[in-house]
Amino acid sequence: MKWADLHVHTALCRHARGEMHSFMLAARHAGLDLGFADHAPARRGFDPENRMDRKTFPEYTDTIVRIREAAPDLRIFMGAEADIYSGFEDELGELRSAFEIDYIIGSVHYVDGVFVFSGSPLVLPDSDTRRIIRRYFELLGEGIQSPLVDIAGHLDAVKWIFPHNREDIEAAALDFLDAVSCAGKAVEFNTSGWRRGQGEPFPGIHLIEAAAERGLPICLGSDAHQPDQVGYAFARAAEILMKFGYGPGNHRGLPMWLPIQKADRVR
Ligand SMILES: [Zn+2]
Ligand SMILES: [Zn+2]
Repeated sequence: MKWADLHVHTALCRHARGEMHSFMLAARHAGLDLGFADHAPARRGFDPENRMDRKTFPEYTDTIVRIREAAPDLRIFMGAEADIYSGFEDELGELRSAFEIDYIIGSVHYVDGVFVFSGSPLVLPDSDTRRIIRRYFELLGEGIQSPLVDIAGHLDAVKWIFPHNREDIEAAALDFLDAVSCAGKAVEFNTSGWRRGQGEPFPGIHLIEAAAERGLPICLGSDAHQPDQVGYAFARAAEILMKFGYGPGNHRGLPMWLPIQKADRVR
């Protein structure tokens, strides 16, 4: 069974580079199927410099359909990475009803205006740090409980700005994994943590193991922002997943990694 990269961005979000077609060529070269998951249009005024605007979305979906026709040897999925913020369902609901979207990765990038995906540690009073971590996981939880969201994106990304609060983050992440399990959803194994100098993926290996203990479907995502990042470190990720008893399979029509018995059953 072929593996897939379900998390790649495109130039349409204004901070990634490369033609969409080039991402397909990169996936083909890497022997992977491909899911586009560019930053979905969000509420008006929500980080407009780094998000696709609603008017551009039809160009995005049309291009994916054309690439699908040009590459019958690959499975090409139409996804999007949606920001979870309070009231996100208004915009996302409209998008999902207007387009044939295969899946949504729900991610939190901003908490009360704080960019949690910034890559540089943030020093704040303890109470603020704890509040932001708590709110981050509240939002993520609202996302995964929404019928509009299928996959929890880079779920412990808040560790990036708060590297000294690992214990709090891990405890909240474990509770969150229980919520993913209850909701019957999936989590992402986002390899960009390695690429971004984190020394571990998003989420960390501990949490991947905890997701595996819960039997959660796991998808691989590179979070590529240029074509040569497609499938980044997937062999390393797959080795970890196999160690936890996982194999490639399908979950609700999407290429995911599943506990071996389930992966066999759906083959
Ligand atoms: Zn991005
Ligand atoms: Zn993201």
